[in-house]
Amino acid sequence: MRVVKHWTTIELPIPDWLNTWATGIPQTFPEINQRMALVIDLARTNVQHGGGPFAAAVFDQRTDELIAPGVNWVVPGKSSLLHAEVMALALAEQLLGSYELAGQGSFELVTSVEPCCQCLGVLLWSGVAALVCGAHSEDAQAIGFNEGPRSSNWETELRQNGIRVTREVMRPEAIEVLQSYSGEIYNSHLRARQNHSD
Ligand SMILES: [Zn+2]
Repeated sequence: MRVVKHWTTIELPIPDWLNTWATGIPQTFPEINQRMALVIDLARTNVQHGGGPFAAAVFDQRTDELIAPGVNWVVPGKSSLLHAEVMALALAEQLLGSYELAGQGSFELVTSVEPCCQCLGVLLWSGVAALVCGAHSEDAQAIGFNEGPRSSNWETELRQNGIRVTREVMRPEAIEVLQSYSGEIYNSHLRARQNHSD
């Protein structure tokens, strides 16, 4: 393939339907289950639109408002960057005008499935104060997704960096979305290499 060398800005695409979806949501989400239920609904809606079975959102811990939603748009957006947590955090940083959310208030990242190796890095650098997860990484692996090389102590390491971690919030509902997915499973080259060395 001939590559045309004319590099411009890289933009992360926000799916068109996301703003329509957001028109019907409540103003605030004081309960952890309300925040997770919103994120799981977003993951379910994303699958219906051809995205991956993952969603995330950044909430303001002081006002309980949704700041930024994110969906897995890797396949439609043709970019391995487009994980739900990356999308939500990048959007929140853009909206708040800073690469570090810690300086802008206190924010929580809610994700329908525990973060992969990429998202773990991004959430650490973003300066979120708290992480809330639904399904386990193993639940995503059970349908063929790869979470990448990640420390088995990731939860402790996040806590050591001042991030509160809550796991297994509405896990069965998050698993239901994973199991409803029949689309593309990406990162197959990693599985191929893994199988080769077996
Ligand atoms: Zn990820």
